[in-house]
Amino acid sequence: MWQTRPESRDSPVCMVSVRAKQLIKRFGETTVLRGVELDIPDGKFAVLVGPSGCGKSTLLRLLAGLERVSSGSIWFGEREVTTLEPRERDIAMVFQSYALYPHMTVRKNLEFGLRLRKTDAATMTARVEEVAGMLDIAHLLDRLPRALSGGQRQRVAMGRAIVRRPALFLFDEPLSNLDPALRAQVRVEIRKLHDELGVTSVYVTHDQVEAMTLADVLYVLEGGEVQQRGRPIDIYREPDNVFVAQFLGSPA
Ligand code: ADP
Ligand code: MG
Repeated sequence: MWQTRPESRDSPVCMVSVRAKQLIKRFGETTVLRGVELDIPDGKFAVLVGPSGCGKSTLLRLLAGLERVSSGSIWFGEREVTTLEPRERDIAMVFQSYALYPHMTVRKNLEFGLRLRKTDAATMTARVEEVAGMLDIAHLLDRLPRALSGGQRQRVAMGRAIVRRPALFLFDEPLSNLDPALRAQVRVEIRKLHDELGVTSVYVTHDQVEAMTLADVLYVLEGGEVQQRGRPIDIYREPDNVFVAQFLGSPA
């Protein structure tokens, strides 16, 4: 496992802070995000938690550049990224559907993002093997995705994110296709990877337990608004409103 990040990075920053200012997102007549503020220090694991439909995925897609803001701005470190394309943002996104290419072997899936960046063959092989070792998928490199279990596919999807060495990881309910036992295990692995890689992570879930156990910084969302931001334990003990108290099951 990496203790420190390797020297030969593609970009100079290793982790970034994430800030969003007054983000508003409308789809036609519907306002989905109503002035969301984010302030996530570099290297932290932030979790966005809230019930289905509250706008979590939309917010993550704005950070990724997969959707455009209606108004407001997004900053990674000192760099404003509001109008940048996804590939200009130095991020990796892990979805609930693994989104592996079915016709490509695990190795080719892992290499894919590097090929787009014109990485040379020797570096590519070294990176793929390094990441495969970290995730314990080295023995699966020549298989096709359909020959893998759900947990193995999820590891490959994470490998594909890690192999590019992005500064920021975005996770959208990455565990929801896994059975409960595996969910707990992969959850721990995701947090461990975050710590070892020294990156910043933004993780979306509707699951309170996942949120409470993973987060350094927790954002509770409802109705397209941040209801409360803080350390999980502080929010749990001192919820700002009835929604937060009920959603997290705080003691009355
Ligand atoms: P969550 O991830 O918290 O479940 P979403 O961000 O997926 O919530 O969706 C928030 C709201 O925005 C929902 O009401 C959803 O129907 C709506 N929405 C999301 N994407 C679109 C879209 N492309 N067009 C119209 N409405 C959308
Ligand atoms: Mg969602």
